[in-house]
Amino acid sequence: MPNNLDLENTPLACDIDVATNLRGNRSYRTAIANLIEKKEPYEIMIFGIDNFKRINDLYSYSFGDIVLHEFASEIRNIVPTHVEIFRLDGDGFGLIALGIDSDELKNLYGEILKLAQTPKNIQGFAISFTISAGICQYPTDGISCDVLYHNARLALSEAKNNSKRCVHYTPELSEQRRLDIQLLDRLQSSVDNNCEGFYLVFQAIVQNDTKECDGCEALLRWNDSLFGEEISPNIFIPILEQSEMIITVGKWILEESFIQCAKWHKLMPTFKMNINVSARQFEDPEFLNFVVDSMAKYNINPNAITLELTESYRVSFEIVYEAFEFLRKQGIQTAFDDFGTGYSSLDIFRSISADKLKIDRSFLERITHDVTDQILLKSIIEMCRSMNIIVCVEGIENVEIENIITKLNPQLLQGFLYSKPLSKEDFEEKYIKGHTSQFEESKKLPTMLYTELRPAKPLTFAEIINNAYASIFQVGMDTEFSFLTCNEGFRRMIGYTIQEIGEKFSNKALGFVHGDDVEWVNTEIRRQLGEGDTVTIEFRIVRSDGKAIWILGTGNVVRSNDRNPSLIIVMIDNTKAKNINLEILAKCNMYEEASGHILGDMRHIKDSVKSNADEISTEIFIDKINKDPLTGLLMKSVLEQNIIELISSNPDSKYALWMIDIDDFKVINDEFGHFIGDEILTIIAKRLRNSFKMNDIIGRSGGDEYLIFMQYDGDENILIEKSKKVFRSLVEPIVINKDVVIKPTLSIGISCYLKTNTPFSELFKKADNALYRVKRNGKNNVIISSQ
Ligand code: C2E
Ligand code: MG
Ligand code: MG
Repeated sequence: MPNNLDLENTPLACDIDVATNLRGNRSYRTAIANLIEKKEPYEIMIFGIDNFKRINDLYSYSFGDIVLHEFASEIRNIVPTHVEIFRLDGDGFGLIALGIDSDELKNLYGEILKLAQTPKNIQGFAISFTISAGICQYPTDGISCDVLYHNARLALSEAKNNSKRCVHYTPELSEQRRLDIQLLDRLQSSVDNNCEGFYLVFQAIVQNDTKECDGCEALLRWNDSLFGEEISPNIFIPILEQSEMIITVGKWILEESFIQCAKWHKLMPTFKMNINVSARQFEDPEFLNFVVDSMAKYNINPNAITLELTESYRVSFEIVYEAFEFLRKQGIQTAFDDFGTGYSSLDIFRSISADKLKIDRSFLERITHDVTDQILLKSIIEMCRSMNIIVCVEGIENVEIENIITKLNPQLLQGFLYSKPLSKEDFEEKYIKGHTSQFEESKKLPTMLYTELRPAKPLTFAEIINNAYASIFQVGMDTEFSFLTCNEGFRRMIGYTIQEIGEKFSNKALGFVHGDDVEWVNTEIRRQLGEGDTVTIEFRIVRSDGKAIWILGTGNVVRSNDRNPSLIIVMIDNTKAKNINLEILAKCNMYEEASGHILGDMRHIKDSVKSNADEISTEIFIDKINKDPLTGLLMKSVLEQNIIELISSNPDSKYALWMIDIDDFKVINDEFGHFIGDEILTIIAKRLRNSFKMNDIIGRSGGDEYLIFMQYDGDENILIEKSKKVFRSLVEPIVINKDVVIKPTLSIGISCYLKTNTPFSELFKKADNALYRVKRNGKNNVIISSQ
């Protein structure tokens, strides 16, 4: 039996780790080097505790230290004298074993694993874990300390990454590492070379009920002069994501997809395309603007595009939330991809609402013979339906799977059964040319509540309820306020189950309202009812998790035969308190009758109400719903009407649209109360009136946002000067009383109307985008976006 390592005599005898009382990393490497000098064969093993971070996170770092200490002393008790143990770093340990072969070392690993798996009682908690290890041998696997150490680490990472527990180093591992580095290198040079070698293929997505093509997903491919085409996106995309490369390639993908989409749109106006984006791209502050600008550049209708968020890279929830909200406001649809893999959890639906969910094909692996999986999938699809989320099931490879999935009734399907990903030429041949009828005008396009001042097309009453982002409900004004109906979006927002809604809130709308706000809401509604026929109130509602969130409600008042007023409240975009005032005409207690009428076109409603005059003796308040009762400014819908009329009567003039938002208005309301909040809104409105000409159109678009549409002579410098002047006048301190002086700050986005025939919606989106940029860049500023 060879001697032990005689470490007491090494110069690093003082390199002792305090947590474990073991020698440290430097001693380990010195000991390896010393042994090489003696030219004796020996084995080294590096092992680490799997997922040790979880222990630190769940308990604490000092608890983690105790775990390491206990584990180290247990190992010390079982290792033979000719094996020495070291603590290398974090959860990593190293062993040097003299005079034993690989099999014996693997046995020793087995014993240490057993120790790890036996629960240790630490401060009353039973702690157990697993370990992974990499082994290598001197001199076979390396003749210098650095090489041996490196190779043992390589074997360890192979064990960790592939759940292999204990791996002996082989030269193939080095070869793999070399290839990885080479791959990284080649990818980088492709990216540096204007994304040379990358190209897109397109896979059809079909409707479940008709099996007709609904659109496609653009998928990235890479053809490299060294690796050819054999590298799957599942390998090269994670590499791109781990570096900045995905930012550049991501932009390239978007532009290429838009170019293709624009081309196919000409042949087929209803064509839709899904594009994958990695969450890493959302971290790039320019990304969202890039999406919007490129869409404008290639003339893409945002409704045609769905961005699929892939799961391979994790990013903070806030970033995704903010990005999704922005995209949806631009009319772009969003999808969660890869559902059912790795990290996705149902919990995400509580917080981020996407338009679509894509179920990953790995979910279907056992679907043909596992009833539990079928039930699970069925529940997910049903849940999505009740939340207005469209489901696409991926990986439909054969008729057997199709039969099972079709019965579960998702809206969309994707898979090799219908088509493999095709080159653009093949896709065009198969799906675009001569197949125009397949892309039937979609009835399911979401309403443009986010991007337009009004629904893009007339909606039935039921459609408005179903499509409004938050909800519509009615409050009867008789003896108490009573809740009548809400849509799924609202239910989702407040987080109650359907059953809970029924149980908790039937006929009690104010059950939603934060206790502190009930009195205020009552008074405010009553006060406003006396003044006009619309009511705008901001109030808190309490979610099922106890969190209070802010809501902006705009209600239209209607009166029943007995003259009792009722109120329909439309709530949209609770987070930003921006509201779109849908002019809703409906008579109290007449929901059923009203549901057949087309809304969004006022003349039509008037006519239909008139023709039913005997049945519905309702007063029509349409003409009065013009001004915001608080500020006297135009309501958003009227404002839009006026603007459109002005543009059409004067198409050659130059116009600018201003979108002004008071920064952190919620904080003002919270700190000073709603009455002071109201006063500020009124004063800002007054200042706006003083800053613009009589024939400029000024309106309040809900909450703390104002819209101004003005004519100017097209000179941008004059506009810049004007914006500075208006800005200065708006941020003047507001004296409420001798104790309260408020210095408002505002964000202003302006878009200019320079080309004739630019639709108003374009101008609106541009201004909204400019405003968004101001907000992202720290608020309290003006950005002018010219054409
Ligand atoms: P994904 O977004 O879930 O795309 C669907 C993948 O499933 C595609 O693999 C597609 O070829 C494959 N697939 C579709 N139907 C079937 C089927 O019936 N059976 C089988 N076995 N596979 C099917 P692909 O093209 O290899 O892409 C893999 C992943 O790479 C994508 O998964 C996506 O996460 C990522 N990816 C692809 N293109 C892009 C891109 O442009 N940007 C980003 N960020 N990620 C991309
Ligand atoms: Mg995808
Ligand atoms: Mg997918």
